[in-house]
Amino acid sequence: MYHRTETRPVRVGDLTIGGNDQVIIQSMTTTKTEDVEATVAEIHRLEEAGCQIVRVACPNMRAAEAIPEIKKRIHIPLVADIHFDYRLALKAIEGGVDKIRINPGNIGKRERVEAVVRAAKEKGIPIRIGVNAGSLEKRILDKYGYPTADGMVESALFHIGILEELDFHDIVVSLKASHVPLAIEAYEKAAEAFNYPLHLGITESGTLFSGTVKSAAGLGAILSRGIGSTIRISLSADPVEEVKVARELLKSFGLVSNAATLVSCPTCGRIEIDLIKVANEVEEYIANLQVPLKVSVLGCAVNGPGEAREADIGIAGGRGEGLLFRHGKIIRKVPEETMVEELKKEIDKMAEEYAQK
Ligand code: SF4
Repeated sequence: MYHRTETRPVRVGDLTIGGNDQVIIQSMTTTKTEDVEATVAEIHRLEEAGCQIVRVACPNMRAAEAIPEIKKRIHIPLVADIHFDYRLALKAIEGGVDKIRINPGNIGKRERVEAVVRAAKEKGIPIRIGVNAGSLEKRILDKYGYPTADGMVESALFHIGILEELDFHDIVVSLKASHVPLAIEAYEKAAEAFNYPLHLGITESGTLFSGTVKSAAGLGAILSRGIGSTIRISLSADPVEEVKVARELLKSFGLVSNAATLVSCPTCGRIEIDLIKVANEVEEYIANLQVPLKVSVLGCAVNGPGEAREADIGIAGGRGEGLLFRHGKIIRKVPEETMVEELKKEIDKMAEEYAQK
C-alpha cells in the first residue's frame, strides 16, 4: 500500500499534494461562480478558516470566464470543477486555474481529451479524476451489478490510463461514496493499486451534525491508515464549516502543525464553574491561532494538575476562582469573573513565544 509519503508529488499552485505527510484542506464554494463578488467573498472566508485549496463549479461558459477575475483576488490555489464539456476545461485552464477536476473518459472524442491534456501540460497544472460511486460507468455497473470498491478502482484506472497514454502524470484521484464502508474499502484498494495522491471525501454526507460524524468516521479510518493527501468534507452547510471540521479531524491525527487544540473535560458533579460556556469561548478564541498550542479547560481542580500536564496552558475551575496552569504547574489563582480573560492573555503570550522560536 502506498502511504501518503510514498505517493507521487503533484504541484498545485505553490502547494504539493502527495509525497509528504501533509493533508491539504479543500472546500468548494456554494455561490454562482460567475457572481465574482459573492464567490471571492466566500473564498476569503474560507481562506481565513484555514482552507488551502478552493474549488469552484464551472457548469457553463460564464462561470469559466469568471476564473481570471476570481484568481486575481484570492490567495489560495483555485480548482475548476468540470463535467463533460472540454471547452469549459480549456477556458478555465486559459483563465489561470491551478488544477481542474474532470474525468477524461467523460470528455468524448480523443482529440478533445488531447486538447485538454495539452493545455494542462502547457500550464503545468494537474487533473483530478473524481470517481463517484453514484455515477460509475454503465459497463462497470453491468460487470459488478452495483457500485463496489473494485468497480470504483477500475473506473479510476480507466481514467488514469487515458491520461498516462498521453504521457500525463500530474494526477490526483478521489473515490467518493456516501456509504462509509464502501468509501473506506475503495480508498484502501486505490492506495494499493496506484501511487497517485488521493483526495479524500465522503460524498453527500449530510448536514453539519450528521455529516460531520459520518465524515469523521469514514475519513478518520482512511487517514489512520496513512492514506490521503488532501481532504474535503462535504456538508449541507456553510462551506466554512467544512474547513473547520477538516481541520479538527486532521488535528486529531496530528496532521496539522500550525493549529491550536482544546482539551476540555466532559464535566461531572464536581464542577464548580460554567465549563461549557468557558470551553466554547476558549475554543472560538483559539480557532484561528496558527501555532500548535494545546489549551486545557477543566471543570475542577481534582484532576487539574494531572490532566493539565499534557497541555501547554490551561485552567481548572474552583469555587469562585480558577487555577491557571502552564505545562502542568500552577502559575496563579484568578477570580472566576476574569478567569477567561486571564487565560486568553496567557494564550497570547505563549503564541507569541512560539512565533519567536
Ligand atoms: Fe469532573 Fe473535575 Fe474531571 Fe471535569 S475535571 S470531569 S469537573 S472531575
